[in-house]
Amino acid sequence: MTVTVRAPGKINLHLGVGAPRQDGFHPLVTVYQAVGLCDDVTATAAPGWTLTVSVPDWMDADAVPVTGDNIVDRAAHLLARHHGIDSLAAVSVAKAIPVAGGMAGGSADAAAALVALDRLWALGTPDDDLLALAAELGSDVPFALVGGTALGTGRGELVEPVPDPATWWWVVVPSAEGLSTPAVYRRFDELDPGAPAEPAAADATLAALATGDPEQLAGALHNDLQPAALDLRPDLADLLDLGKGSGALRGLVSGSGPTCLFLAEDADAARDVAGRISRHHDVVLVTNGPVAGAHVVTYA
Ligand code: ATP
Repeated sequence: MTVTVRAPGKINLHLGVGAPRQDGFHPLVTVYQAVGLCDDVTATAAPGWTLTVSVPDWMDADAVPVTGDNIVDRAAHLLARHHGIDSLAAVSVAKAIPVAGGMAGGSADAAAALVALDRLWALGTPDDDLLALAAELGSDVPFALVGGTALGTGRGELVEPVPDPATWWWVVVPSAEGLSTPAVYRRFDELDPGAPAEPAAADATLAALATGDPEQLAGALHNDLQPAALDLRPDLADLLDLGKGSGALRGLVSGSGPTCLFLAEDADAARDVAGRISRHHDVVLVTNGPVAGAHVVTYA
């Protein structure tokens, strides 16, 4: 038997970050949106455990660990332990979400692996248990299960869907070199030692989503990690300017970066913006959101 599960990358339309908590995590108020850049995780019945990863031409295969360090190994072993069984499967990951790019590609793979292996092993894990296992694996993993558009609180793991009836068009420009999320948070702490305990609220973004108007959403986009990401990667400021000059309504660093996002008026405008940016950058992608969270695409 073979099961393929597709899981989306995320962007943060609003990312409010507070001062670190006692446990070292930063409290977040974030509005996640799942977008159409997705990884596929395929699990096949096998007598042992194997994991392989494939990447598109533009991605550096070496950036993805294939040993026990891959988050898919952790997801599989956590689910198996939860049910007291051995993790027996041949799993392959086909990546399309930029690695270490601030789009939570690893988290998407973990969510997809939980769903694929739950089906392969016929476990019937209740949704609440899957969400709890997801939260143990990483702060962004529960959202990758839920998808759509959602408010994230706590360290991002508490996810509540929010209405988002429109389709939003994004130009996505990955970076050849990733940024470490912990390093960006460390720089955030250095640049903003007086950050409030309570992160900035997401009201403006939620209100803009309800209008369905890209100009309104462009005005409301907010990322508290952007100054830290730009400090570590000053070249991204030029890219944001380039996007603005190419007709985007607004440019934004995706989460902890370095992927940059550009909101466009509609699908045609997104293709135009992408065409102009691609005169200067090799990899320029067009996608839209919101899309579904981790879901089965093949079951055979
Ligand atoms: P974060 O979720 O922390 O914002 P990110 O979106 O910036 O992370 P990811 O693509 O999730 O970046 O990768 C973060 C790190 O996780 C990578 O540098 C890589 O070493 C490791 N990693 C482990 N498993 C995977 C995986 N399946 N895909 C991508 N990266 C993985």
